[in-house]
Formats: sequence, C-alpha cells, structure tokens
Amino acid sequence: MNVLVVNAGSSSLKYQLFDTANGSVVAKGLCERIGIDGAITHKQLASGKEYSAQLPMPNHTAAMTYVVEALTNADHGCVKSMDEIEAVGHRIVHGGAYFSESMLLNKDVLAKLELCRDLAPLHTGAHIQGIEGCLAVMPNTPQVLVFDTAFHQTMPKEAYTYAIPTELYEKYAIRRYGFHGTSHSYVSAEMTKILGKVEGTKIVTCHLGNGSSISAVKDGKVLDTSMGFTPLAGVEMGTRCGDIDPAIVPFLMDKLNMNTTQINDYLNKKCGFLGVSGVSSDCRDLEAAIAAGNENAKLAMDLLGYQIKKYIGSYAAAMGGLDAIVFTAGIGENTASIRKRALDGLEFLGVEYDADVNEKTFGRNGVTELSTKNSKVKVYMIPTNEELVIASDTEAIVKASK
Ligand code: AMP
Repeated sequence: MNVLVVNAGSSSLKYQLFDTANGSVVAKGLCERIGIDGAITHKQLASGKEYSAQLPMPNHTAAMTYVVEALTNADHGCVKSMDEIEAVGHRIVHGGAYFSESMLLNKDVLAKLELCRDLAPLHTGAHIQGIEGCLAVMPNTPQVLVFDTAFHQTMPKEAYTYAIPTELYEKYAIRRYGFHGTSHSYVSAEMTKILGKVEGTKIVTCHLGNGSSISAVKDGKVLDTSMGFTPLAGVEMGTRCGDIDPAIVPFLMDKLNMNTTQINDYLNKKCGFLGVSGVSSDCRDLEAAIAAGNENAKLAMDLLGYQIKKYIGSYAAAMGGLDAIVFTAGIGENTASIRKRALDGLEFLGVEYDADVNEKTFGRNGVTELSTKNSKVKVYMIPTNEELVIASDTEAIVKASK
C-alpha cells in the first residue's frame, strides 16, 4: 500500500511516501516557512531526482497542494495521480488521555483531538491544519492519526500521577503522558523479538536525540517514562532542561524578569546541552569542544550520562529486574561516549558490554548488540523508524476498516 506519512509543524510540513509492501520510502520532502513565504524541497528516492522551489504558502492547505504537485510531477514525481496513494498517516504529538492507539480519522476523532489543543497548543493546532490541508487535496483518502503519547497510556496511576491536588487532574488533565511513543514502541518490539518473548520481559528503552526520553517497558507495555505533562520533563536534552526543581521556575521568573511565555521559551530553548555547555545543542559540537578542552561541554555530556544511568537503575527497581537496555535516535544510535557514560557502573545489575563494539557502533550499521556473551542484561543499539511505524499502523487500520 502507498501510504503518505505527514508530520505537520506550526510552520513546516514533512512528508514521506512509503510502499508498505517492502517498507521502502518512495519519495520524501519538506515544506518550510508556511505562513511566512514558503519553500519546498522534494526527493524521489529511486532516481535520486531532487526538486526545490520557493512558493507562496499562506497555510498548510497551500503547502499540501505543492506536495501533490511534487508527488505527481512527470519528472521528479512518483505516482501518476493521488488516487495511487491509498492512505495518509499523521504524526500527532499529543493525544491526551483520549487515545491509547492509532485511530482512523472521523468527526468524533477530530473533535477529541480538538480537546487536546490545550495540552499542546502549538503542535495540535499545526496537526489540525495539516489534516485540513490533506482533506482539502485528498478528500476521499482515509487518514489515520498516530499519537506520540498512545504507547504510554498503559502506565499505572502511580506512575502518571503528580503529587498535586487530584482536582487539578480532573479539571485540567494534568498528569504524565510521555512522548516518542512510536519510537519506544518500535524499538521495544524489536527487542522482544530478539529476546524471543514479550510476556515476562523488562526493557529500558533510551530514545536519545535532540529531544530525549527513557521508558520502562514491562511485558511489552509501558510502566513508566521520563517525559511528563509536556516533552520538557525527564533527562537533559539539546536545548530543554529536563527535570529541575519546580521552585526554580518562579525564582528565575523573578530574577530574570520573565513572564510565563518567556520562562517556558527559556526552559525549552536555552537550556540543556546548549545552556550547560554554552557551546551548542548538538552532541557532535560538544564532542569537538571537549577534545579542545572545554570543561562545560564535558559537564553537559557527563550530566546526561549520569541521568540515563539513574533512570536505568530506577526503572530496573520499578520493574523488579532488567533484561535489556536499548539505545536509539541520533545520540543513542551514534554517540558511543554517551552510551559509555550511561553503562559504566551498571555491572552490579549484570550489565557487561564490549567497549570496542560500542565505539564502532553507529545507526547506519543497523541493529547491533553491545553486550557481551556473559552479560545478564542484553544491551542493543536499534535504529528507530518512527515514520515506518506510522505507515504500518496506517495500513493496518485502513485495511481493518474496509
Ligand atoms: P535526533 O533528534 O534523533 O535527530 O538526534 C540529534 C542528536 O544526535 C544531535 O545531538 C546530534 O549531535 C546527535 N548525533 C550524533 N551523531 C549523529 C549522526 N551521525 N547523525 C545524526 N545525529 C547524530
């Protein structure tokens, strides 16, 4: 089945056309600066042909019109008409407590998504515009929503509840939701295949990229996860602070004379690797700075390694044991020094890994075992593929609905 995967942001729209028969990407591209001026870059994978243009994109519907043109173009396109695309799968950041699985779009589902707007205003607004854009140009094509939060809906109450008055949960739905669910779902499922079973497995999945989250997956279901009400919580990230003492927020607002929007922006965009190192939000820049003797860059990396180690230990305690640790996403797949920082010292849990293999392991090499034969805990690098999960979920739901 040809499935178009759409990831709509506030001023951007990424797309990938999948052939789910073999999981291959047929074409992909990006519309940028939507609502400002507009630009599209598009690539047809088989021929390598590329196309880019600056085009007026007042909204996501206009952007989708150009996506249709690019996909059906006689030179760099890949389908004769949009009828050859049988379904659209949308990445949706926040499904609140309404969605515990991917859903076929209908009026009821769209109304529930509207209710999630309050939880992630920028993201949800953009997703709805992306959906409207697709409905405008492909009105008869089924659309499926795939939620970053859905896989985490199995968390028990004690894992998702914050110690604030219960009425706030009832009134404002304040609780832990967790994000990167499609990635945690994909790599934990791959890991259970390696372990040869789902029931009885205890896995910690470490999705480490610009945004990072760590999950405890027991019996194939999420027991706990590091991100919270928003994707700001958990471990240190590229520019996000992760967990800090909540009292720091009013303290900083006072000292730096910031309002709520400004402090939210600050904690999301000026902290993490960037804030601690003063150098960059990118791991590769930090490694270069460390090689040049920058102590703050080293602290930024040490901090993340230490936090991952603490999560692994606490999740092993929460699950009552540990069978496997999985590293994925940009840093998890490619940055050996972070994996080393996280794993060193976990011998007491039965973790033993091959330092040489770790050094030589990159996402492009595919699934790689880092643990030694004697290790009681399997340690793996498994490249994530969130778009493929969206495409396969979409295919399954559309087929089931026919
Ligand atoms: P992501 O958000 O998953 O794209 O991850 C981005 C992070 O991964 C950045 O901090 C990058 O520095 C880091 N990274 C390290 N090595 C690589 C690599 N070879 N390719 C992509 N990202 C990398």
